[in-house]
Amino acid sequence: MSNFNLAVIKGDGIGPEVVTEAMKVLDKIGEKFGHTFNYEQLLMGGCSIDVHGVPLTDEAVERAKQADAVLLGSIGGNTSTSPWYKLDPSLRPEAGLLKIRKELGLFANLRPALLYPELKGACPLKEEIADKGFDMMIMRELTGGLYFGERKTVEENGKKKAIDTLTYSEDEIRRIAIRGFDIAMKRRKKVTSVDKANVLDSSRLWRAVVNEVAKDYPEVEVEHMLVDNCAMQLVKDPAQFDVILTENMFGDILSDEASMVTGSIGMLASASLNETKFGMYEPSGGSAPDIAGQNKANPIATILSAAMLLRFSLDLDKEADAIEAAVKQVLKDGYRTCDIVSEGTKLVSCSEMGDLICERI
Ligand code: NAD
Repeated sequence: MSNFNLAVIKGDGIGPEVVTEAMKVLDKIGEKFGHTFNYEQLLMGGCSIDVHGVPLTDEAVERAKQADAVLLGSIGGNTSTSPWYKLDPSLRPEAGLLKIRKELGLFANLRPALLYPELKGACPLKEEIADKGFDMMIMRELTGGLYFGERKTVEENGKKKAIDTLTYSEDEIRRIAIRGFDIAMKRRKKVTSVDKANVLDSSRLWRAVVNEVAKDYPEVEVEHMLVDNCAMQLVKDPAQFDVILTENMFGDILSDEASMVTGSIGMLASASLNETKFGMYEPSGGSAPDIAGQNKANPIATILSAAMLLRFSLDLDKEADAIEAAVKQVLKDGYRTCDIVSEGTKLVSCSEMGDLICERI
């Protein structure tokens, strides 16, 4: 019997609806496998602005740090109509997200992109490619590189010039590479490291450090791929990938491309990890204000994020497998929320989908 303490941030929009379903599934797992999940609910985003005037209090950060992991729904509202977006950018909902990522030292972002055979119709790729299926994990460095380098705009001879700098230290590369190889060991044991080593020094260092780390993982197959080729391979032959390991900007672009080829935002989980086992787990989509409060949202992305939490922060692989198998089964049985419904399938609500998944655990 184990006891785990989870910080839960339901957030805004569909966040409370989808997180409630994920908690239901975690409780079912607890019942079946003999664990207790204690939840501490914290405010972040618009709901925190409404209560505290700021999108994330220092107290909420401290409490999140005390937990074994954080489960997050989504934050934010309609960016054209919500009063939250009349505030200074530092006080808007998204500032809470940036603050918590920084405070928790989350440097590794994981986004699985998996094509379920039952949802092949939503995949925008040709049938012969979709038929082969794919199941990859994009592992993106989150706190270094071009987005965090020095930047400035200067004027030279009356013309403006903008400069952004791309910096990576070997320690920054090593810690994400170790994470990437550890995760490959829990999967099909292949790492594709993506860089631009034919042009960039930072990429040549990236490649050298990845090769060094690889020596400690003799079971893992390693390949290096240039980012432009990877962008093409993702649409030409996505089945070849297991773990894609890459730096911040390349990962930003490639992970969106990979999620597009799955065709369904409501199915996409994600995780951000720090140096320990601690992580924050959340669906890849936003707060979907257009369908919030209607019990229509697809809770599967959040339920699969909870499965990642079990696997990566709590080392509960069997339990994570059970959730993933239940999701596959519910799709096989023909149940769909409104975002993935198609002819011949059964439309269910957010809470019904949660119940159906629990029944299959
Ligand atoms: P969105 O992902 O919220 O919605 C895009 C479309 O996908 C909408 O039509 C929505 O109904 C649909 N959708 C998303 N998730 C769904 C689900 N689980 N089930 C069914 N349909 C789903 O993106 P947006 O409209 O650009 O942004 C809305 C708000 O979310 C904004 O305030 C934005 O800043 C915020 N946002 C938050 C996060 C986060 O919390 N990490 C991420 C992205 C956007």
